[in-house]
Amino acid sequence: MDECIFCKIAKGEIPSTKLYEDEKILAFLDINPAAKGHSLIIPKKHYHTLLDLPHEELKELMEIVQKVAGAVMSVVEGVQGFNVIQSNQEAAGQVIPHLHFHVIPRKQGDSLNFAWEQGKAEKEELEKYAELMRKRL
Ligand code: 5GP
Ligand code: ZN
Repeated sequence: MDECIFCKIAKGEIPSTKLYEDEKILAFLDINPAAKGHSLIIPKKHYHTLLDLPHEELKELMEIVQKVAGAVMSVVEGVQGFNVIQSNQEAAGQVIPHLHFHVIPRKQGDSLNFAWEQGKAEKEELEKYAELMRKRL
């Protein structure tokens, strides 16, 4: 993935404001933050979506997501909560096609909005999807 911005950031070819780094993982601040302290956590190796990441690598990545969230809650002025956002594929709003987790600090009444209109579902429909999905788990 020669052209991938996050691969270049992982290799140090593009500068970033680093928060944490080890052999496999990098955490850094988002260049266009939704809020002060908005952080990104990536595997250094290129994977497009969460489904492409080998299962064994997920635990370590999520531990860093949790640690970064803890740092955000300790350090960001007035922070009262945070969102962990992880988008997969363009249809879901993934702009950079390299797996990443956002940690976004939140304050009561801030202008960020990740809400959606609540839908309705019949019991039969819930059962149908659950039955199909259970077979894949
Ligand atoms: P996505 O929309 O794909 O979930 O998120 C991509 C994120 O990467 C955006 O929040 C965007 O601001 C951030 N981003 C894009 N290019 C760069 C960059 O060169 N450096 C840093 N630090 N963040 C970037
Ligand atoms: Zn990449």
